[in-house]
Amino acid sequence: MTTSSNSSDINSLFTPGLVAAQQPQWPGGVDGAQVRSAIDTLKKLPPLVFAGECDALKAKIAIAQEGKAFWLQGGDCAETFAAATADSIRNRIKTILQMAVVLQYFASLPVIKVGRMAGQFAKPRSNDNETRGDVTLPAYRGDAVNDLEFTLESRTPNPDRLVQVYNTSSSTLNLVRAFTQGGFADVREVHNWNKGFVSDPRFGTRYEQMATELGRALDFMASAGVDPEAFKTVDFYSSHEALILEYEKALTRIDSRTNLPYDVSAHFLWIGERTRQLDGAHMDFAAKIQNPIGIKLGPKSTPEDALAMIKALNPDNEPGRLTFITRMGAGLIREKLPALVKAVTDSGAKVLWVCDPMHGNTYEAPSGYKTRKFEDVTDEVRGFFEVHKALGTHPGGIHIELTGDDVTECVGGGEQISHEDLATRYESACDPRLNHSQSLELAFLVAEMLRDR
Ligand code: PEP
Ligand code: MN
Repeated sequence: MTTSSNSSDINSLFTPGLVAAQQPQWPGGVDGAQVRSAIDTLKKLPPLVFAGECDALKAKIAIAQEGKAFWLQGGDCAETFAAATADSIRNRIKTILQMAVVLQYFASLPVIKVGRMAGQFAKPRSNDNETRGDVTLPAYRGDAVNDLEFTLESRTPNPDRLVQVYNTSSSTLNLVRAFTQGGFADVREVHNWNKGFVSDPRFGTRYEQMATELGRALDFMASAGVDPEAFKTVDFYSSHEALILEYEKALTRIDSRTNLPYDVSAHFLWIGERTRQLDGAHMDFAAKIQNPIGIKLGPKSTPEDALAMIKALNPDNEPGRLTFITRMGAGLIREKLPALVKAVTDSGAKVLWVCDPMHGNTYEAPSGYKTRKFEDVTDEVRGFFEVHKALGTHPGGIHIELTGDDVTECVGGGEQISHEDLATRYESACDPRLNHSQSLELAFLVAEMLRDR
């Protein structure tokens, strides 16, 4: 399980001279002294995850690809250093565990739990700059690169931040491991939290019966003598977008068991919609590492794109290696997804289909806040299930931007958050997230879809 820290010639793995989209304009350039110094520091640090854990996740994804597990991935759009507090991390884990229990019971399938956390610090942006009034500054690219505050000093990319990404990921992961292995994740406890949610009058009685049913099942298992220890711990994996290639390469190590390269910054890495050019440096990076990989597919993706990506990333059709995360928008999912799923299925390629119902449903509220409608989010997931049902394929999972706190960033849901409410508690450093209640509500709705699939 150990991973070698000897990474001196890792760079020779990657094809030189390829264009890397969405990289920061570091002062002094990517070969400047400051970036080199951060990379040298990172290369000497121990792995954040073990290669063997990445393999274990890959094996679980392979099971999901066969229709025998469901994928739940969630967390911030952009983690921040300031929000890596015990309370915030605990609330996010708690939310994902609460969702997982509901999904697992009603799907009668194991749920693979994956945080968009412990490394999700870098963001692709539509514009390199942001203008307010007559001031134009570099856009915020995530805490990995610069600071959200709108001053020249804060917005200037600072390579020292890459080391802080490692340190913050490390402390986050430490708490994740403690929470998920130390008894906090006990399924009976998680069910008790859910009972608190369903008894909240704002959500009516819609979910009460489902929660009661689940409670009976747990009681039955306890009375049947199922080992209580079996309830206590859960496997929980980390993931983020592999965006800043200097960081990801510095954390790529040769696994001493297999002699193969793994990116040990997270268990699962995905390549975003804006950086998945077939001839680009991100795809080359993803092709060379052994981790399970996700690719985001937006509404412009063609069946040919999907097949080319399979060829580039998984030419041997290794089970568990490749996940397609579609983000079409509620209005387009039913039109755009079928051709992709059909072409990939006909090719015989093994992929896991995951629905990101967030990134195709973002709009600007009259007040200027970026938001999403809860009803659009649920409608995209419903469309995803409909398409897979029609084609006889497995709706493999969901990818959600969420937080465990009671923020007001997405409108709608049982709490009926309105455009006017957005200002009450809008804390996201980037895209709007479902809050704790909206996340649980989504889990109950998806559980119904899973039961009816
Ligand atoms: C994201 O997941 O935050 C993101 C930027 O998504 P996409 O690459 O799908 O736009
Ligand atoms: Mn986002």
